[in-house]
Amino acid sequence: MTNLAAYAAHEDQSRGRRYTEPKPSYRSEYQRDRDRIVHSTAFRRLVYKTQVFVNHEGDLYRTRLTHSLEVAQIARTVAQAIRLNEALAEAICLAHDLGHTPFGHAGQDALNECMMDFGGFEHNLQSLRVVDELEEHYAEFNGLNLTFECREGILKHCSYKNAITLGDVGERFINRQQPGLEAQLANFADEIAYNNHDVDDGIRAGLISVEELSAVPLFDLYYREVRALHPQIAGRRLIHEVLRRMINRLVTDLIDSSAARLRDSGVASIHEVRVRGAFLVGFSDATGTLNQELKSFLRERVYKHYKVQRMTLKARRVVRELFDAFFADPGLMPDEHRVTGSRREAAQGPAGRARAVADYIAGMTDRYAILEHRRLFDPGERT
Ligand code: MG
Repeated sequence: MTNLAAYAAHEDQSRGRRYTEPKPSYRSEYQRDRDRIVHSTAFRRLVYKTQVFVNHEGDLYRTRLTHSLEVAQIARTVAQAIRLNEALAEAICLAHDLGHTPFGHAGQDALNECMMDFGGFEHNLQSLRVVDELEEHYAEFNGLNLTFECREGILKHCSYKNAITLGDVGERFINRQQPGLEAQLANFADEIAYNNHDVDDGIRAGLISVEELSAVPLFDLYYREVRALHPQIAGRRLIHEVLRRMINRLVTDLIDSSAARLRDSGVASIHEVRVRGAFLVGFSDATGTLNQELKSFLRERVYKHYKVQRMTLKARRVVRELFDAFFADPGLMPDEHRVTGSRREAAQGPAGRARAVADYIAGMTDRYAILEHRRLFDPGERT
């Protein structure tokens, strides 16, 4: 890590872990964060959680796990190019979706509605809860005891109301400061990954066609280029040749634009990065527009597609019915959740019970949630 830029996260300037631990012998502190995330229970569950398309509908769609790996890949390339801390960027990316409910955004919206009277539910905040509280791996503490820099990166957004309850990681939302550059990078790597893989999955699912995509300038630009270079190719190979160019354009622009902004800003430490009023990592205006147009297309044509909406309806129903049943009678939850639930209820009343139910549901994979729903509501199903 000798090649790190002055503005990168340096281990010796870290704000540390919540519980002090001896330094690792063969790894950096941020590598240890990454390794703890990879070994966590929540990370393994990502394989059976939906990104946009329900996992059991087809084996080739992205899941939260493969999405997170693609995000980490993109972030590592950019981190190396602008001399950021690669291990930290990777750790943040691998952890960024750990708090997602089953069934993608539909599940999160439904759970948020269920939790309306009890502080709401937000997947970002839940990701932080997973690494700070919910993982049960270590004798001395709850959670994974990650470094401050990794935790600030995982908490991408946060309302003022929640920020004031979070201590150190909440401060920047109150003081209107920025996170370190590795965290800023993770946001963009996430966007690049999902915008492009949702095109791929959307075509695979038959929701959008190449003809429709020609209305998207970023797609059209590289579609024409690929057709001119390789008039004979078609199908998956053609799509992939276009998508790799789109990703390359976005990543290259992100590297060049961020490098220029960092140079112009003169920032020389992670502290100087944090106290600035705006992100230093980002696209150029022209490429930002291309990316935005792609995003709008996906919103209209994929995420609002009737087939996706039907899945959304089912997901909301499953989450709502599970929540209502467990909240009305926590005795229906498996022992470990019921016990923590009653402990929390003793301390915090109904809000504590609701949070225990939300934690249980948020931790479910798509197929576990469906099975659990069947076990509760289908008289023919074994309990
Ligand atoms: Mg993501």
